[in-house]
Amino acid sequence: MAKHQFQTEIGQLLKLMTHSLYSNKEIFIRELISNSSDAIDKFNYMQLTDENFKEDSWVGKININLDEEDGSLTIGDNGIGMSEEDLMKNIGTIANSGTKSFVENMTGDAKKDSNLIGQFGVGFYSVFMVSDRVDVITKKAGEDQAYMFTTDGTGEFEIKPVVKEEHGTVVYIKLKEDEKEFLSKWRTQEVVKKYSNHIAYPIMMHFSEDETTGEGDDAVTKKVKKSEQANAATALWTLSKSELKKDDYIEFYKSLSHAEDEPLTYLHNKVEGGQEFTTLFYIPKTAPMDLYRADYQSGVKLYVKRVFITDDDKELLPTYLRFVKGIIDSEDLPLNVSREILQENKILANIKQNATKKILQAIKKLKDENAVTFTEQYNKVIKEGIFQDYTNKALLLDIVKYKSSTEEGMVSFADYVSRGDSEKKEIYYIAGEDEKVLRNSPLLEAYKKANIEVLIMDDKEIDEIVAPSIGQYKEWNLKDITTVEAPDSKTKEEKEVISKEFKSLTDKIAEVLGNEVKEVKTTSRLTSSPSCVVKDTNDPMAGMAHMFAQMGQPVPETPLILEVNPEHTMIQKLDKLENSELFADMAWILLDSAKLSEGLEPKDKSAFATRVAKIATEAL
Ligand code: ADP
Repeated sequence: MAKHQFQTEIGQLLKLMTHSLYSNKEIFIRELISNSSDAIDKFNYMQLTDENFKEDSWVGKININLDEEDGSLTIGDNGIGMSEEDLMKNIGTIANSGTKSFVENMTGDAKKDSNLIGQFGVGFYSVFMVSDRVDVITKKAGEDQAYMFTTDGTGEFEIKPVVKEEHGTVVYIKLKEDEKEFLSKWRTQEVVKKYSNHIAYPIMMHFSEDETTGEGDDAVTKKVKKSEQANAATALWTLSKSELKKDDYIEFYKSLSHAEDEPLTYLHNKVEGGQEFTTLFYIPKTAPMDLYRADYQSGVKLYVKRVFITDDDKELLPTYLRFVKGIIDSEDLPLNVSREILQENKILANIKQNATKKILQAIKKLKDENAVTFTEQYNKVIKEGIFQDYTNKALLLDIVKYKSSTEEGMVSFADYVSRGDSEKKEIYYIAGEDEKVLRNSPLLEAYKKANIEVLIMDDKEIDEIVAPSIGQYKEWNLKDITTVEAPDSKTKEEKEVISKEFKSLTDKIAEVLGNEVKEVKTTSRLTSSPSCVVKDTNDPMAGMAHMFAQMGQPVPETPLILEVNPEHTMIQKLDKLENSELFADMAWILLDSAKLSEGLEPKDKSAFATRVAKIATEAL
């Protein structure tokens, strides 16, 4: 017999549960049934594919036992069960990274934390909302020894060997004094029906009921043991859409993904003729906590002819759709598919392609508040998709949204195009890391003046790489405003005249700055700023940053061109300046402040500060 201390995070979680932040306590039944169903799924697969586990008469079943006298409820299954090690790992520690980050995000603020749980669901531990004494009696299939895990919901648990005939798990729950409602057959049956009606295995309720025999004075009332099946026991996705209501889909989602809120949308498809398969997918309202973790959990379960195969295959959908929850059930795959086979299986590749398209179409159809929520939660991963999934690029470009220089909120390419110049067919954008810097960029001045919309792409580490890889939306070309000529009303000839007029000035500045810039020239793209820097479009490296990023190589720096505004007083005065020391300081300030406006760093920050101080002093 061994006593163990719970992992600190579990301690916290238990405290949270026992202080019952949850308004919806009944869901512990759903969570335990869902665990049992998973365990039966796993054993079912083993006994169908592994001679050593073959059990001809085995039928997966979940039992709920209500014991009024004892004040306890048990939920049991004949699934795969757990070894001593499994108990330690699965129940004694939090292995699931999603749950872990949930606990890490807990603030101690009851209200906030209960909202968090709402998005999460924490499986087994929800039982501590109704009980402070829980035993897990379990025997792993193929092993001789059974074990019992006991805890009173404080900081410790105990694991000891016990005797148990059949493999599987029974969870014994001693109900708290004021949670006895779950001993009522009606109450518990209602909960089972509500959340677990379409769990694929029968859920049998065992209870005692008063039964009266005889009449009048001879009447005798006795407690009689009874059993009833509480659910429909048909896997939800095998039913036809017409048989199912929205509520059925939503309750199934909650039990599938331990979620508390409704999904943004769901899609259920049966494909027949040629290959046959069924898919049921959900888009959660809140992105999973592990969305940006390398060890994220796949949300999709693979079944073959209703037999569960795996919930741990990240190849079932493209990685950028890792937030999708659901089920794929194939009629054509062999039951004993190995992982290696799954990787390059044609049948699965076909399902993946079909599923991806359907999911993206469903996302594209989201409207109003749901569409806004989707963008808030998943816009970034959609951008990953644009980068990775060439086949579905068109659909992804219809989903992705950006900030805009002229509109509030987020706009789509379709929105932009509907307002843009349909003859020129160009979509302008500026990409970087900081929205404020982008919005204040001198490069935007000419577009503002000409009333042309520019997309503001400010997703750190993503947009600068993804945007150049987009190329076109429908027939519209994407143009990075840091590399293209700005709109203005001057003709080519007029520009040449100005350029000549200021040639001695731009040459002199170029001489001072040396290798720091590729070229210095006049521009008509500025109104209020004296200078700006742009990337050199003729440089072979300019358009290739995304390729380097894709190959995992460091992105080479693109040479910069310094452009000066000949209409600005500062430039005009500089043109006539005799003092060569002051001229050199001013040339550097023109470059460094233009760089700062684009969120770039001056080459020598302290030299920049010294020059500014020097000139300011002189001005005073
Ligand atoms: P989740 O189900 O989200 O993984 P839980 O806290 O509900 O989280 O369960 C933790 C783990 O404990 C499960 O992943 C599973 O490995 C194991 N487990 C729980 N209940 C059972 C059961 N009835 N039979 C076998 N294993 C179980």
